[in-house]
Order: sequence, then C-alpha cells, then structure tokens
Amino acid sequence: MKQQGGCQCGAVRFTTTDTPVRAMACHCTSCKLRSGSPYGVGVYFNESDVTMNDAQLGTYQFESDTTGRWIRNEFCVKCGSAVSWTLEMRPGLRAIAGGAFDNPDWFTIAAHIWTRSARSDMCYPDGMPVHEEALK
Ligand SMILES: [Zn+2]
Ligand SMILES: [Zn+2]
Repeated sequence: MKQQGGCQCGAVRFTTTDTPVRAMACHCTSCKLRSGSPYGVGVYFNESDVTMNDAQLGTYQFESDTTGRWIRNEFCVKCGSAVSWTLEMRPGLRAIAGGAFDNPDWFTIAAHIWTRSARSDMCYPDGMPVHEEALK
C-alpha cells in the first residue's frame, strides 16, 4: 500500500509504504500550534516505511510541558507546511501530518485524544473512541 503526499508548495514530497501503525486526531496544545488547526491528525509509521525526497525540512524541537519528553516537528522551509514529526515517546516511528496526503481518505482515524483541551463546539463521529488524555 503505497501513498504519497507533500507540502503546500510541492517542494517536499514523501512516499509511505505499508499500513500505518496508528492514526489519531489529537487535540493537545502542541498539535494545535504545530498545525495551526483545532486539532492535528497524526498518521504514525515505522520510520523505514517513510521516504522523503531531498527537499530541505526545517526542524523545531521542544519539550512537552506535560510529559517532559521531546517532540521534533518537521516542516517545509519554503512554504512552512507541517509535514511530519518524531517523538521521544514513540521511538522508531515517524508521524505524517494527516492533511498532507494526496488522498485524504486512505487511512482511518482510530481515536480522538487529548480531548480535554478540544474546542467546546467539537463534535465526534458516532462510535469514535474519545480519550480525555493520551491513549495508553
Ligand atoms: Zn513547501
Ligand atoms: Zn497532540
């Protein structure tokens, strides 16, 4: 199962192979700020299943004020689109920003997490698992 995507300006392109380890919608502050959206969608792959082209990715690393562990955001230096990230908490995995895929529907969101910081008008699909904090 090969999928492709990239940033807004098209400089950064990636290919993913195999199925994601997990895909989640996250309402934490970090995902809001990284994506500029009410929530972020993270599609997590084994690192070896993600190939980036050779466009330059900017990085920004910070420590979560909740967990104290680092998160490293990766973005297009030309257009600023959020593309991917890695986390100390999930070694060996690389997350792709859900909105960056050419086909927005090929993966299934398994859960919404950190909903305690979600917008108050947020609605969830019927039957969707919803977690106040991280998925254990
Ligand atoms: Zn770009
Ligand atoms: Zn998050």
